[in-house]
Amino acid sequence: MEGVVIKSTGSWYTVLAGNREIACRIKGKFRIKGIKSTNPVTVGDHVTIEMEENEENGVITQIHDRKNYIIRKSVNLSKQTHIIAANIDVAFLLVTLDEPPTFPAFIDRFLATAEAYDIPAILLFNKIDLYTSEELIQKKDKLIELYEKIGYKCIEISVKTELNIDLVKQEMIGKVSMFTGHSGVGKSSLINKISPDLDLKTAEISNQHKQGQHTTTFAEMFILPTDPESYIIDTPGIKGFGVVDFSDEEVGDFFPEIFALKSLCKFSNCIHVNEPKCAVKKALEEGEIANSRYRSYLQILAGEEEHYRTDFFE
Ligand code: GDP
Ligand code: ZN
Repeated sequence: MEGVVIKSTGSWYTVLAGNREIACRIKGKFRIKGIKSTNPVTVGDHVTIEMEENEENGVITQIHDRKNYIIRKSVNLSKQTHIIAANIDVAFLLVTLDEPPTFPAFIDRFLATAEAYDIPAILLFNKIDLYTSEELIQKKDKLIELYEKIGYKCIEISVKTELNIDLVKQEMIGKVSMFTGHSGVGKSSLINKISPDLDLKTAEISNQHKQGQHTTTFAEMFILPTDPESYIIDTPGIKGFGVVDFSDEEVGDFFPEIFALKSLCKFSNCIHVNEPKCAVKKALEEGEIANSRYRSYLQILAGEEEHYRTDFFE
């Protein structure tokens, strides 16, 4: 039988196969090419299972190729990675400019990580009902213009007034979705609005103090009761969106507007910092590439954490 892993505890896996949830184990060792991870099977994996004689439990005999997966570094000493989830169709980032502020550096790191993971990303500007000042509205409009120009879909929403919640639902149909964003941007409220009966733990995950060193949390996949074709992956205990170790030369590949100019730079290995005849620097000077995006690019290149407290625009 074929199925999808919707839950994992480390030794048992819940596999949804033919409308049935089957508790499965794995037999023997699975090695996935190129990944050294603490867990061979993860939530979102498409698997083949065989039923055990009791007809209750199953054994996972095969893991199908993943189209993508997100990881985090294990806290243990082996420095192995933990695969959080696989086969994600869309990652939504909830953005609020106020209460709490989401700075471009954070958005850009999310987007670059999504590009690196090969996961389509959508920005949801939440709490639109709170945009009462001209200054905030302008800031938001400018950001949306910036990201739409690069090619990212942006949706203005308000969980409170239900603005465009139907658009978010439409984007989720037939897909496995993930929601991320700073604590307080409205993730649990949104998921609750989309599907009131889901018992997600998202609300808890934001509390950093709960992320104890030794807590191992596992992602879980939920089917929307309101729309059986839509799935949400909940990642309790995981801050942000996993990690990617970018090498200098590949950072630019994850900024679409920088990637698009790469072939026009004089040097094929240009990292767009000090090189002469750099098409990216030229585009930056001409205002074709946004200062905030270039700054985020430099920060990731330098391996720095986001400078959250920098201004939105120069
Ligand atoms: P989370 O930490 O991302 O899960 O955020 P919550 O869903 O807990 O929301 C944080 C706060 O923002 C709560 O008090 C929500 O009621 C509020 N909130 C969420 N969405 C909206 C919205 O669209 N408008 C307003 N005004 N408040 C919102
Ligand atoms: Zn260059």
